[in-house]
Amino acid sequence: MVSREVQAHNSVVRIGNVPVGGDKFAVIAGPCSVESEQQLMSVADVVKGHGAVALRGGAYKPRTSPYDFQGMGVEGLKLLKQASKATGMPTVSEVMEVGQVDSLCEYIDCLQIGARNMQNYGLLKAVGETGKPVLLKRGLSATIEELLLAAEYIYDAGNPNIILCERGIRTFETATRNTLDLNAVAYIKKRSHLPVVVDPSHGTGVRELVIPLSRAAAAVGADGIIVESHLNPAEALSDGHQALTGEMFAQLMQELKPFVEAA
Ligand code: PEP
Ligand code: MN
Repeated sequence: MVSREVQAHNSVVRIGNVPVGGDKFAVIAGPCSVESEQQLMSVADVVKGHGAVALRGGAYKPRTSPYDFQGMGVEGLKLLKQASKATGMPTVSEVMEVGQVDSLCEYIDCLQIGARNMQNYGLLKAVGETGKPVLLKRGLSATIEELLLAAEYIYDAGNPNIILCERGIRTFETATRNTLDLNAVAYIKKRSHLPVVVDPSHGTGVRELVIPLSRAAAAVGADGIIVESHLNPAEALSDGHQALTGEMFAQLMQELKPFVEAA
């Protein structure tokens, strides 16, 4: 079970060779979507150069509009594998359907369950049966209890390698894309032994807010962040307005130094 009542010590989940939940603050970074070889390789090099420990990138994209870019699919997964080989960073990518689980497992080190699928119980069971690390994002309007119970489905299917992700929830506030619930991070760290990461990109939807909310995530006790970055955000095929440029990513890592280096 994911509760601290059954396990007092913190779980450490390894994405490839990268521990999440230990004493180092983990920065997972990369584009919202994999768009091309050139786009992915260049941003992977930049984030790795500044200290990211794992690469994110969506190949299957849960877009609000069916007319928007839906992702490169398996070609995107192959590019992630290539970028992982080139940089040494393990990868995180979203799986949207049970039928995609096998190909994700072939190419990717950590399976992301997106906010829209947090309560897709068939999918939770399927990723639970793989034993692969799972990054489980909180649903758009899910309570903390519902998030913990969703994690329980993965755990109960035989997979304890779960990283929880606070990515903002829907509230009455419209100035930002979502309301990043940092209460949830502090609360879950008390209730559960699982590692918790924060997604300040979807949590705010505003590039200029990503660095301050990343600092806040570190300060409140998160085990890391997953953050979107693009070297040319104006041309991004998804979520460009919340992507950190290369320069901003460098600044982020500079500001997180005390947390990233704390041992
Ligand atoms: C993403 O990580 O690009 C994504 C779609 O996230 P979420 O499921 O949190 O909206
Ligand atoms: Mn995105």
